[in-house]
Amino acid sequence: MSAVRPTGPLDRVAGAHDAAVLAVARRGEPVARAGLADALQVTPQAISKILTRLMDRGLMTESGSYSSGPGKPTTLYRIVPGSRRAIGLHLTRSRLHGVVADLTGQVLERHDAGIDPDLGAAALVDVLARATRELAGKGDGELLGVGVGMPGPVDPVSGTHLGSTSSTEGWRGASIRDLLLAELGMPVLVDHDSRAALVGESWSQPGLLDNSVLVLAEEGLGAALRLDGTIVHGAHSRAGEAGHMVVQMGGEPCPCGRRGCAQVEYLSALQDGDPGRAAEVLATVVLNLVRLVDVDRVVLGGRSVHEHHRATMEAIRGALEQGLHEGEALHVEVLLSTRGADLIAAGAACQVLEHEYGLPTTLVGPDSR
Ligand SMILES: [Zn+2]
Repeated sequence: MSAVRPTGPLDRVAGAHDAAVLAVARRGEPVARAGLADALQVTPQAISKILTRLMDRGLMTESGSYSSGPGKPTTLYRIVPGSRRAIGLHLTRSRLHGVVADLTGQVLERHDAGIDPDLGAAALVDVLARATRELAGKGDGELLGVGVGMPGPVDPVSGTHLGSTSSTEGWRGASIRDLLLAELGMPVLVDHDSRAALVGESWSQPGLLDNSVLVLAEEGLGAALRLDGTIVHGAHSRAGEAGHMVVQMGGEPCPCGRRGCAQVEYLSALQDGDPGRAAEVLATVVLNLVRLVDVDRVVLGGRSVHEHHRATMEAIRGALEQGLHEGEALHVEVLLSTRGADLIAAGAACQVLEHEYGLPTTLVGPDSR
């Protein structure tokens, strides 16, 4: 008889427990066994085993103790931010912004480079590889890999840019992930910029954004969804393409062939020097998304949001207040991304961290199919 050890599911349970403890510890405060046992609904003995595993791998460490009466003092534990690193690259048509981040998603170093919009996939991968090697030399801790966030649509499973109606045609159909993997020989994740941004925001604020949308206004307009704790990709990896939601029947012509898409209405309002109208377009998009998927947090990010954030926040809060009937008492918080220009690069780095140490429900990466 062959002795096959059924390690798969058991290992996955252990991984889930480790991830859950790391998620609590990522909030920053030192944690005690009893508190963790409460949070995870497991025994303190089980917590001891989990902590031993995490400490053996250098991910957590003891962090002093305190006494709250007679008996043994309570030992405290904390995460070791410098134990792991991940690189994140934010790619647009004209530039590359890269960061290396620690285990908590904190940015340690940055790297910027210009991108020729006409670059083909191979030349582009050269630029990405150079940035990765440069950043790999910064900071301590085991380097887990590199994440790339780029304008979509992107298939995160194959790491392929699916092309779009904007001018990124040189990359269409290229598996940036496979090319970069061959060049670097380290794990590579490639995803849509807005999904990367949302993963980054939720990595640094565990549990807060389990039901959230992130609306990103960079060169285009997009969104990402996290529902019941899971980042949503959709059947064609196109979930969250909010930029082509029609907000104005018979409105401005959009490169996608229709009229009145949110993205073209938003950009043309900004071009006309009318940030108020642009904010209203965003508010309509946000209200529609909230109506559709029922989230309790909306995060706004991207360069053009930051430029006009006051007007934008006001318009969105107003639209939500009016749009969600008072009687329903739905509370939706509108937040501005905390990461500024690092939003997508840091998010791409956090996708690598989440892939390695995130809760299993959020492990939607290349290995999940
Ligand atoms: Zn369109």
